[in-house]
Amino acid sequence: MSRKKERKLKRIRNRGIWYKIIGGIVAKVVGIMILFLFVALAGLISLNTYLLESDRDMKSIVQITEQNWQNKDALVASLNDFKTHTPSIEKISFVNDDLVPLEIRPSEQTKGIAANNKNYLQRMLVTRKIARTQPHAQEIDMRAEILKSLLTLNFITLYKNTTMLQWANTDSFKVSQQIFYKTNIEGVNVCADYIYHITNFHANIFVFMTVFLLIVFLAAFVFEMCSIFSLIRDKKNINKIVYTDSVTGGNNKDYFLHYAAKAIAKNNNYVVAQIRLEKYRNYCTAYGLRQGENLLEEIYDFMLENLGKKELAAHLEKADFALLLKFESEEQLYERLKKMLDDINERQKKQHLLFSAGICKINSKADDITFLVTAAGLALSKNDETRSSIVWFNQEMKEEQVWERRIEDDMEAAIINHEFQVYLQPKYSTKKEELSAAEALVRWVHPVLGFISPGKFIPFFEENGFITHLDDYMLTEIAKLQAKWLSEGKKLIPISVNVSRAHFSYENLAEHICEIIDKYKVPHEFIELELTESAFFDDKATLLKTVLKLKDYGFKVSMDDFGAGYSSLNSLKELPLDIIKLDAEFFRGIEDVKRANTIVGETIALAKKLGMAIVAEGIETREQVEFLAKQDCDLIQGFYFSKPLPVDEFIQKAWS
Ligand code: C2E
Ligand code: MG
Ligand code: MG
Repeated sequence: MSRKKERKLKRIRNRGIWYKIIGGIVAKVVGIMILFLFVALAGLISLNTYLLESDRDMKSIVQITEQNWQNKDALVASLNDFKTHTPSIEKISFVNDDLVPLEIRPSEQTKGIAANNKNYLQRMLVTRKIARTQPHAQEIDMRAEILKSLLTLNFITLYKNTTMLQWANTDSFKVSQQIFYKTNIEGVNVCADYIYHITNFHANIFVFMTVFLLIVFLAAFVFEMCSIFSLIRDKKNINKIVYTDSVTGGNNKDYFLHYAAKAIAKNNNYVVAQIRLEKYRNYCTAYGLRQGENLLEEIYDFMLENLGKKELAAHLEKADFALLLKFESEEQLYERLKKMLDDINERQKKQHLLFSAGICKINSKADDITFLVTAAGLALSKNDETRSSIVWFNQEMKEEQVWERRIEDDMEAAIINHEFQVYLQPKYSTKKEELSAAEALVRWVHPVLGFISPGKFIPFFEENGFITHLDDYMLTEIAKLQAKWLSEGKKLIPISVNVSRAHFSYENLAEHICEIIDKYKVPHEFIELELTESAFFDDKATLLKTVLKLKDYGFKVSMDDFGAGYSSLNSLKELPLDIIKLDAEFFRGIEDVKRANTIVGETIALAKKLGMAIVAEGIETREQVEFLAKQDCDLIQGFYFSKPLPVDEFIQKAWS
């Protein structure tokens, strides 16, 4: 999985959970703060009203004092009158500038005070002081009771208990305050003791507001917790979906990669195994896809049943499974896996199932799980598909893989840079033993890896499809050479070029080849096209059409490696070929020489009867040459006469 996909999956799994949780909490806190703000605002408004009221009262007291200071009787009477109309004022007194009380007695002059009737520029608030009445024992008890009710959220008890509320209203929650204002009279300031009793109405409002705020807070908290839990549940569900395999209903590859990596990070005494049910496609063709998926599910369930503690199983893709198994010894693991696969087969009595397995041992806690799974898969691919087998991953496999990767990366540049070189292997006539034809064989001279033989890269190019480009390249190179030799007045020699079977799926292959050769104006009879026998298993109708067209264009067509496959005689019957190239295997390591010679002799005779020429490949000894001469074989290609040669050496051999 790419890092981008991994990140995307991670995002889906954790989708917005933290944003949502933090966002939800912030929203709720802000909401509650706004609510508190409103309450505080309401409080402030009432405080302001109170301040304005008390300021007005105090200004009146100052005015009464200034007007009546000289007449203490009138002053006391006026103040008493004022006090009667202002119930919140409990006491009015006088203090000097050091806040020391002044004694005012009716009909008596206060010394020195009235004399200096200085005008103050402004009347100012000296101080405001809030003081609680001193608590006594009963108050403490009552407060403890109220506090207990509040803490245990037992509002009903609190509300029903009228004594408590009564006490709270009258005694405890009474607020007293002393306000001092300066007068115009020097050294005389007025002081009013305010006492506010909280009324029942206020207490009810307070209790109601507290309960209301608590309920709001609790509801917000419960709501927030519910949404967090539902988010966590959603996340779990998403994780479940992300990690569930749609075929078996069990764990999928992502699950395996995630949890196997975790397990390995703790303990590396594990192996990663990949198990493949071979020929799964055949099974689906025979029994249907649903049945095929049911089978995979059964296999998966069986694997699960056979797992130990802290071991994992998952379905990867198609018919591949991954296992994380504890490692004791190679033998033990081999036996365990073999038994597991045999037991699955035992259960599936009706069908014989073929499994192959690849195992990769974990060496360190830091091993990358994706590499381990790939390595187990690589080992698995080295299996022989025809029988159940278990293969351990080794370093050479990795090197091979790296090599293949390198080849794949470099192949296109190799064509552009002419790293592929043409070698020519002469074919000699049997009778006169003269160089009469040649086969073009490719060699790759890699700038770093050096000389690479076709046996190493051709099968790989056939697999990845690049072979068609290489075939075109070789055809072009041969056409160029032939054109050059023709222009130099040399007597041309027919040269055969290998055309891979992959190329034969092209409907217009004959036209394509014709185009390449005609570009260099090479007479078609000097170009021969070698088809491998395996090409005959593919689209026979297209192959036949192409062969007929090529022959029509005047090219020679030969069957390479005749006898190495299974249906040679059949293909002879179906295809009107010009030449047969007997495979080198005919002449190698044969114990019953007489019998082998009979087969070669009879094959040559048969081909002759069908009007085909014969080339024997891989001829290394004089005896073979003599035998083939006797059997009327036309041409011989092999190390006995010459190895494949670079073009310069070939020119020397052919025309000097
Ligand atoms: P092939 O077309 O059957 O080529 C004959 C192979 O036998 C060549 O191997 C050649 O070097 C080898 N050979 C010839 N005489 C002897 C002998 O006396 N003893 C032994 N032991 N070997 C002999 P090479 O060049 O390694 O090519 C292997 C195969 O690679 C070729 O088999 C052909 O199938 C494929 N190939 C080579 N060049 C090309 C190409 O340009 N295009 C395609 N499509 N395939 C190519
Ligand atoms: Mg060949
Ligand atoms: Mg051959």
